[in-house]
Amino acid sequence: MKLNNYINGQWGTDTGADYTAVKNPANGKTIADVRLSTADDVTQAVAAAKAAQKKWARVPAPKRADYLYEIGRIMIEKKEHLSQVLTKEMGKVIEEARGEVQEGIDMAYYMAGEGRRLFGETVPSELDNKFAMSVRAPIGVVGLITPWNFPVAIATWKSFPAIVAGNTFIWKPATETPMMAYEMALIFEEAGLPAGVANVVFGSGGTVGTAMIEHPDVRVVSFTGSTETGRRVAELGGRHLKKVSLEMGGKNAIIVMDDADIDLAVEGILWSAFGTAGQRCTACSRVIAHTDIKQELEQKLLEAMKGLTIGDGADESNKIGPVINAKSLEKISYYVNVGKEEGAKLLAGGNTLTEGHYTGGHYFEPTLFTDVAADSRLAQEEIFGPVISLIEISSLEEAIEVNNSVVYGLSSSIFSRDVNKIFQAQRDLDTGIVYVNAGTTGAEIHLPFGGTKGTGNGHRDSGVAALDVFTEWKSIYVDFSGKLQRAQIDNN
Ligand code: NAP
Repeated sequence: MKLNNYINGQWGTDTGADYTAVKNPANGKTIADVRLSTADDVTQAVAAAKAAQKKWARVPAPKRADYLYEIGRIMIEKKEHLSQVLTKEMGKVIEEARGEVQEGIDMAYYMAGEGRRLFGETVPSELDNKFAMSVRAPIGVVGLITPWNFPVAIATWKSFPAIVAGNTFIWKPATETPMMAYEMALIFEEAGLPAGVANVVFGSGGTVGTAMIEHPDVRVVSFTGSTETGRRVAELGGRHLKKVSLEMGGKNAIIVMDDADIDLAVEGILWSAFGTAGQRCTACSRVIAHTDIKQELEQKLLEAMKGLTIGDGADESNKIGPVINAKSLEKISYYVNVGKEEGAKLLAGGNTLTEGHYTGGHYFEPTLFTDVAADSRLAQEEIFGPVISLIEISSLEEAIEVNNSVVYGLSSSIFSRDVNKIFQAQRDLDTGIVYVNAGTTGAEIHLPFGGTKGTGNGHRDSGVAALDVFTEWKSIYVDFSGKLQRAQIDNN
């Protein structure tokens, strides 16, 4: 199967262009070949999106929303198929894939609702017989760049607010996971979205991403991925005076206080640290444990980890799937060695799994380090795999300091039964998302999603906040006095 671009409502054909193999991380088998597009393909897509945008912006927002309701309906109809494809190309276990597809469906309905809101403000004028209001205006053509770990949800967080607000878009999915973009383009087509509103261009970040960011007609770039790439996107976007929205890396922590429900904390840690094989941007990779419960927590974690079954995510009995590719396995192994060299104590895991039914796949054992120094590389750098670093602390103040000591600021969590500690923590934890008595993952689509410091640049995906990325504020003054009234002048 060859995946070609979807531009201006048309599918590209195989014209001898370059392709690269898409592989199932569970077994290394090729599942498709995806086109490696050129800058010319981007130019073509931008031209189509630009031509469609003016007309699209004039479609009343509730009517634009009707397309999203239809997209949501088709996604529901195809939910199982989409989930199976997602697991096959990305590796996450099928239960999680279904959850991710559901997130996309929820976003379709939520953003469709915005078609009847898109609220602006009406405010009193400082002058008599004058009316003042602000409205959200679409920006134009927007470029979306997405990572492989949530190949459908993140794209819906960006594309659905973009189109309900009256923009058209070009989506460049991660080269590792183009299948979901192909599936979504089929859905856009089936839903009858006018040609040019939604365009998918496959290919590398270096070529397609760069061409998109540099194109003068792409006014907004919404990017999710690593902090390293995000910095490059921002630099290039900045040079071209683009509005650039960045959602980047994380090094998220769960704090377990001495008064916590330890069994509940263990469940939260397991789910957050090993779900999606630790490859969520919100994955828990640090556990900040109070001295008085540290030993009990370690023992209970070790016991619970024995029950984690690893294997192909398509098999419903597996709890942990593969990581995305061989490069990722190398990176995780590298950090396990870094941890050992830094003097952290390895309590469980630490190995790649290559024999038997793991052959050909990219599997890594769930791994637990303890006695990790808060300022060590193991505790500071994003690993993006199933590795927990346990750090001991003796007060809430110390826990918060340790949590905030990393360059990232996406998600954090505290397990405690003390309302005073909980409220202090939610105030002082320097992250965009804070959970209380729950792990670091599980964001709901109607709240803003994003982080502080090295995780973001002040924008948010999801929730109403997402509309801020894809709209400009326009302030409108209507003077019905019949004479020239001067504001900002001392009229007294
Ligand atoms: P990545 O390597 O930064 O890639 C992300 C996207 O950027 C891909 O589509 C990639 O294309 C593209 N890209 C690469 N180089 C580019 C360039 N020079 N210009 C423009 N685009 C370029 O990240 P990843 O490995 O896919 O994803 C994992 C990272 O994403 C982790 O750091 C994770 O924390 C982060 N993440 C953050 C959030 C959040 O909301 N904060 C959510 C999910 C993931 P190719 O695939 O062709 O390289």
